[in-house]
This record gives sequence, C-alpha cells and structure tokens, in this order.
Amino acid sequence: MYKINKRYDSVFLIIIFALSAVLVSSTVLINRFQIALPLGNSVIRSDSLCGIVQSCIFLLTIFAVLVNYNYGLVGAMLVFGFQIGIGMVNGIRMRATGSIPGVFNAAVSIFVLVLISRQLAKRERESNTDLVTGLTNRRAFEQMLAWKTAKHQSGHVVYFILNNFRAINENLGHRYGDLVLKEVADRISESIGDRGIVCKNDGAEYLLLLTDKGNPIEAIEKIMKAVGEKLVVTKDGINVNYFLTCSAGVASFPKDSNDASTLLKHADVAMVDARHRGAGEISFYDSKLANGIAHQQEVERKIKECLENNYFYLVYQPQYKLEEKALRGFETLIRMDRPDGENISPGEFIGVAERTELIHQIDNYVLRRAMWEFGSIIRNADNDIVLSINVSAKGMGRAGFAETVKSIINETDFPANHLEIELTEYSFSESAEHTVENIRVLKDIGVKIALDDFGTGYTSLIQLLRLPIDLLKIDKSLIDDIETSQQNQDFIDSVIYMGHIMDCEVISEGVETDEQLAVLKEHKCDFVQGYVWGKPLSYDTAVSMI
Ligand code: C2E
Ligand code: CA
Ligand code: CA
Repeated sequence: MYKINKRYDSVFLIIIFALSAVLVSSTVLINRFQIALPLGNSVIRSDSLCGIVQSCIFLLTIFAVLVNYNYGLVGAMLVFGFQIGIGMVNGIRMRATGSIPGVFNAAVSIFVLVLISRQLAKRERESNTDLVTGLTNRRAFEQMLAWKTAKHQSGHVVYFILNNFRAINENLGHRYGDLVLKEVADRISESIGDRGIVCKNDGAEYLLLLTDKGNPIEAIEKIMKAVGEKLVVTKDGINVNYFLTCSAGVASFPKDSNDASTLLKHADVAMVDARHRGAGEISFYDSKLANGIAHQQEVERKIKECLENNYFYLVYQPQYKLEEKALRGFETLIRMDRPDGENISPGEFIGVAERTELIHQIDNYVLRRAMWEFGSIIRNADNDIVLSINVSAKGMGRAGFAETVKSIINETDFPANHLEIELTEYSFSESAEHTVENIRVLKDIGVKIALDDFGTGYTSLIQLLRLPIDLLKIDKSLIDDIETSQQNQDFIDSVIYMGHIMDCEVISEGVETDEQLAVLKEHKCDFVQGYVWGKPLSYDTAVSMI
C-alpha cells in the first residue's frame, strides 16, 4: 500500500521537494542579507518576506503529504529538519533569539503534517478493509492484482461463493450472518496460508488470489472442506448447527487475461457456472462458458421485458379421467408472445428464471393471472374442475409463500378447493422446512398438491409417498416406451398401486398414443394428460370446455 503507485506521483514529489529546498535556501539568503522587497510606496521587510516564504514551504509540504502520505511525510521532515538545523546553528552561532520562532514554526509544521499523514493512512486502511470480516476489500484486491499482472507474474483469481448463506441471514438475522461471514473469512485465511491472499467481495462472496503457478484445485478443495465443516451459531442460548456449501470459479493469469478487471469478470463467469452445477463445484473460465452465460443473460433480459410489458400469456392443457374421458381440469402453462416474434420456450426460460430471482415474479404472475381468468367461471360452474398451476421449487421453499397464494385466492375470489399446485421433488431438497410449512397452510384451506415429473428424480418412492401430496404425475419419459418396455410397465404399475394405498391419485402426462392409453387403463391410472386427447388450449377454448 505504501508504494508510489501512480506514475506521476514520484515526479510530482521531486518537483515539490526541489521547490521546497529552493525556498528554504532563499530564507537563509533573505535572513543573511536582510533582503527586502519594494511594493508600491512601501517595502516588504526581510522578516515578513521570510514569513511568506515559510508559508509557501508549509503549503508545498502539505501537498506532498496529500500526494503520498508516507514518502511525502519523509520529505517534509527532511525539509523542516533542515530548517530547524539551520535555525539552531544560527541561534547558537549568533547567540540570538531571532531564530526561535522559525524553529518553533518548523516543529509545529512537522507535528501537523504527522497528524495529517496518520489520518490519511487510517482512511486508506479503512477504505481497503471490509468492516465485517477485517479482510481487504475488492478495491484493494483489484489494486494488488493489477500490480501483479503489470509485473507479468502468474497465478489464479478465484471467485468463491457460499451457496446457502441466505438461509442464515433470513433465519437468524444479519447480526448472526455477519458473525458467520467473519468465521468463514478466518477459515479461508487459515487454510490458504501463504499460498495466496483472500479478500471479501459483496454478499457471501470472497475473492482469492493464488500466487502458486500450479493447479489450484487442491488449494480450493482444502478451503471448501474447511468452510464446509460444522458451524455452530449460538442464538438466545440455543446452538444451531449449519453446514455451509460453496462453489468456486477460477480465471488464471496470464492465460485468460492480463488485465485485472477482465480477470475478475472471467472468474465471475466461471463462478456462475460452478454455482449452477451445484455445491462443491469448481469451474475454470473458458470462452465457451462466457458465450453460455451471455446467452443466459439474453434470456433473462427477454424474461424481464415480458414481465414489464405483459408479453406473457397462459395456455391450458386439459386433463381427463381415464375411465370415462371426462374433463378433470387443466394444467396452466406459460407462453411468451413478444412483438419481435423472438419467443423462447418455457422449457428453456423457466430453467433460466429458476437460477435467478425472476422465477418469483413468474410464479406470482401465473398464479394471479390463471386464478383471475378462471375465478368466477369455476365458482359458477356446476362441475368440479381443477386448475393446476406449476410453482417453482424456489417459490415453494420461500417463507410466507402460502400467504401470498392465499391473498391471491382472496383477491381473485377463486375457490381454493379447485386449485392444485404442482411441485417437483426438488422443492423438498431446496428448503424443505418452508416447503412443508407452505404445503400445510395451503392444504388447510383445501388446495391440492401434485408431485410433477415423478420418476425422473432420485428420491425413493416410499420417501415421496410420505409427503403430503394428493396427486402423482408420472413423467412423460416413463410413458414414452410403455407399450414396449415391460420394466416401465412394472414400474408404473407399482407407482399406481402404492399411490392408491397412500390415498394419492395418479395422472400420466405426455400420453400421445391410443396404445399408451390402453396400457394405462389396464394398470388403473386415474387421469391422463397428453396430445392424444388434447394439446394446450387458448383461454377461450378452455372456457368453452367448462
Ligand atoms: P411440465 O410441467 O412437465 O409441463 C408439461 C410439458 O409437456 C408442457 O410443455 C406441455 O406442453 C408438454 N406436453 C404435454 N403433453 C405432451 C405430449 O403429449 N407430448 C409432448 N411431447 N409434450 C407434451 P411446456 O408448456 O413447453 O412446458 C415445459 C416446462 O416448463 C413445464 O414442464 C414446466 O416445468 C415449465 N413450465 C411451463 N409453464 C410453467 C409455469 O407457468 N410456471 C412454471 N413454474 N413452470 C412452467
Ligand atoms: Ca407441470
Ligand atoms: Ca411434468
């Protein structure tokens, strides 16, 4: 930090001190020869002239300290030390008291400059330090990185993020969140040792500068292990255990770039990728990754535009009771309708939205619009049509989500017992506590819960059936070759059988052929949804079917 890092600083300091030296010498000459300066009718006497020059020296040294509080101060001390020396020699040699004010002035000036310099040093320390963790901050990190790349050194920039930190902030509050960030900072610093430097970035992010030339994986894994160890937070006398998970993105210099801010951007891109891949993942920057992220950002931009300008609309795919082909209800599916025609399929944009906070806006939009469109129609119809709405795992895992649904139900006057929420099993892995609580609140008011994409995840059937669900939706991938695959038939048979034992109804989705229908009928599946009996329909067509 104490280097003269701006190119012109050193030149500037030399000029200032050269001028100061000239001025100091001039005071000696003025005193020695009692030089006076004529000014109009009067004259500036030598002692006044010395006073003016003295002030100029003081101003110049202040400048020097402002330019660089360290070298500037050393220079200023030399200048005033020199002056004090001359003053004292003069005083002793001539046994006169006339030089005492000059010596006193110089001493006070040194004192003032030391104060200024210390304040500046403190300010710089603070502006380079993260107050929560005591680590250097991003600004200082960038400076260090720029210095290293300018010196043609090599190493790695690592963007390090805590994936599940938000839960701590939300559950325990920011004060405890800060304590956790500090603890993580200590763990990282300890495990990185002298292999690099760690700094605190925004939120739950840290930046590492690994100066080792070799593969950084080993060092990063060691840090991840240290961070992932049990963390005990004591609140109100109660110990709460947390296990933090993290992901890391790496950009190497000079391989990926030799520019500090580009390196940070590249490491960020790699971190976003690692985060999508999951906890404990490490991604290395490459240009393909950057293109993928750019595409994703483009999708995000389109989603935002659609939300802002109301370019989304809903279609409704009918679901039928298999036995008598009677209408059971509709699954709500979202569509884009952009004026430029550049629409993206929900299969793609929902995935992107789920990785950001945009999914909450989509969830809310679909719930509000679907219930608004069907509220009075379903209330006034004399059948028991069910409107099924997809809700993201992130939305369902959010504290208070059920209350939002309840308020939309009230707002739109939608009969709650005709509403079904479709979840996937990821809802139970994301934030199980909130999900289960939201389900409980919704079921209390009569809302049904369906488990979507069943058969694609890894949770066991027994475990899934313990969940409070009303409907199992067997995924299309299991239906696709049902006519030919005995294994799939056996699986579907056991799913339907188990579902019924657990008081759960079963629907097959993506049913496309009459042969598939026949097999499902044979195995006593309750409902079907698929192109064989109906593609997603416009609102008007769906209404006419009710
Ligand atoms: P999903 O929830 O599994 O929805 C079923 C998807 O399968 C829909 O695709 C539907 O059009 C399609 N499908 C239905 N029957 C057949 C069939 O017989 N054959 C074939 N090949 N496909 C069939 P879509 O509308 O493109 O939606 C894709 C995914 O996007 C959905 O899968 C769901 O995960 C998500 N999604 C769609 N709308 C919403 C929404 O409003 N909110 C949320 N959170 N996700 C949505
Ligand atoms: Ca669905
Ligand atoms: Ca599905």
